[in-house]
Amino acid sequence: MQTDKIRNFCIIAHIDHGKSTLADRMLEYTGTITDRKMQEQVLDKMDLERERGITIKAQAVSIEYQGYELNLIDTPGHVDFAYEVSRSLAACEGAILVIDAAQGVEAQTMANIYLALEHDLEIIPVINKIDLPSANPQRVKEQLLDIGIDPDEAILASAKNGTNIDQILDAIIERVPAPYNGINQPLRALVFDTLYDSYQGVIAYVRVMEGSVKKGDKILLMSNQKSYEVDEVGFFSPAMQKKDKLTSGEVGYIISGIKDVRNCRVGDTITLKNNPAQKALPGYQKVQPMVFSGLYPTDNADYEILKEALEKLQLNDASFTFEPETSEALGFGFRCGFLGLLHMEVIQERLEREYDLDLVITAPSVEYQIIKKNGEEVKIENPAAFPDPSEIDKIKEPFVTAEIHLPEEYVGQAMELCQDNRGDFKDMQYIDQDRVTLKYEMPLSEIITDFFNQLKSKTRGYATLDYELEGYKASNLVKLDILVNKEVVDALSTIVHDDHSYQQGNALVRRLKEVIPRHMFKVPIQAAVGGKIIARVNIPAMRKNVLQKCYGGDVSRKRKLLEKQKEGKKRMKQVGSVEIPQEAFMTVLERD
Ligand code: GDP
Ligand code: MG
Repeated sequence: MQTDKIRNFCIIAHIDHGKSTLADRMLEYTGTITDRKMQEQVLDKMDLERERGITIKAQAVSIEYQGYELNLIDTPGHVDFAYEVSRSLAACEGAILVIDAAQGVEAQTMANIYLALEHDLEIIPVINKIDLPSANPQRVKEQLLDIGIDPDEAILASAKNGTNIDQILDAIIERVPAPYNGINQPLRALVFDTLYDSYQGVIAYVRVMEGSVKKGDKILLMSNQKSYEVDEVGFFSPAMQKKDKLTSGEVGYIISGIKDVRNCRVGDTITLKNNPAQKALPGYQKVQPMVFSGLYPTDNADYEILKEALEKLQLNDASFTFEPETSEALGFGFRCGFLGLLHMEVIQERLEREYDLDLVITAPSVEYQIIKKNGEEVKIENPAAFPDPSEIDKIKEPFVTAEIHLPEEYVGQAMELCQDNRGDFKDMQYIDQDRVTLKYEMPLSEIITDFFNQLKSKTRGYATLDYELEGYKASNLVKLDILVNKEVVDALSTIVHDDHSYQQGNALVRRLKEVIPRHMFKVPIQAAVGGKIIARVNIPAMRKNVLQKCYGGDVSRKRKLLEKQKEGKKRMKQVGSVEIPQEAFMTVLERD
């Protein structure tokens, strides 16, 4: 395709504003998908994604419209996948900015606008859901004006009813610039997503920035200098369709027998081995997990199954890491690294659903940098592995800039919450008369605890949150240990700020008392810092055995009770002589 007939664009939106629905309507309107039943929302392929209404992986589809090739690149809709989003945007010249006519501008709308501007994208504002009785497009237009976008450029639409889809398509052709024509230069193709297929290996989703690539070419991945021979190139319609070659400006896929997604990372540049580009495309980063937790099978016999499942999941996900770990309390398991909490939840859910595993999951932790008195520097993401306090000179933890978007009336509560979570106020801006954006610098560890839930509940669900990693800074941190029946349970240890250790130790033992069942004997639960006990509660002994109620008579009733007990025990882990339920490990995260 001639470059002047190509338009590459993405759709950006705050969650639920209608991005996927709009994409579907555009595919339908242009006849890209004829069989409506094919899939309700083609662009969100995984079941989990559909259920949660989020797009986890970026997807691409080529749309033919009035002699033009419109390439739509769908971006993940969650802050955990910010790097993938940035690479998808780097593959485009334009962005459709979808804003819900009833909700107006929100945190991710702002974050997305900044991203689009950073990548120099032409922004086409679409005010969606105008069919809703509560729609207020005029208010959204005023908000657009306030944030520096010309409201006259906005297209009013209803993705649900298919209203004004043609106007949006026309605007893409008219307003989004054609890609740069670099056909005579050496190949530079940007990898913006990858998919693993057990037959074909890694399928690299690419945007060709310059040059061209075809079957039989020897390609070179510029970050790791690995070289492969191209088996197939093509485009998405939305199914994969073979093509002779991909040329400058086009979007499509390259299959070249790469067996490991870690060898073909998002953001990398593909060039030709025999005629390589001088420089890789800008912006390559190897994404690193930010949140870590221990995954243990409830039944130790499932260890191998868990290991295989983790290996399989990793085939498709270069940003997920795992390594064997042992816990005194939980036995053999794995320390897993995730981009963020959502990524973690998605992987846990897939392990439980697709592999039918019962897991005990420890509270997530960030990675700490510890500078020891002897000058040695270590990185630790498992609180249990913390060195002795007497050896530590300094502890550094990751900090983020958090952006909270909310109605003005809740600003007071939100600020209080941020302060309670060691937030450092940076900025406050009005989007319009009654909407405010707050900026705080905060430790990532506070964000991954109960922060978002609390923010939601303090703002009646109206606040939205976005955050970006800033870097590491020293903090006054200590390890909070939990002793159950006088023994330290390593999997319950957490890192907390020294100023909060008493309060958090107290709160935690009280919560544990609620979730750990009674035993035949009294179970003391204690919190300790540096070996010093700072809080204690007792779980009283059980009065009666469940079976005593049966008077030995009714066998079937007895069996039922036993079964019921077993069910309840399913997620229990025997730690010493005490059974601790899964809940207990996550209760560490909650805040009173
Ligand atoms: P995404 O998270 O931005 O991809 O949003 P979705 O496309 O999944 O839409 C979120 C919800 O809004 C779904 O329940 C859609 O059916 C609904 N929705 C999307 N567009 C419209 C619209 O134009 N009008 C109305 N009333 N609902 C819409
Ligand atoms: Mg969606």
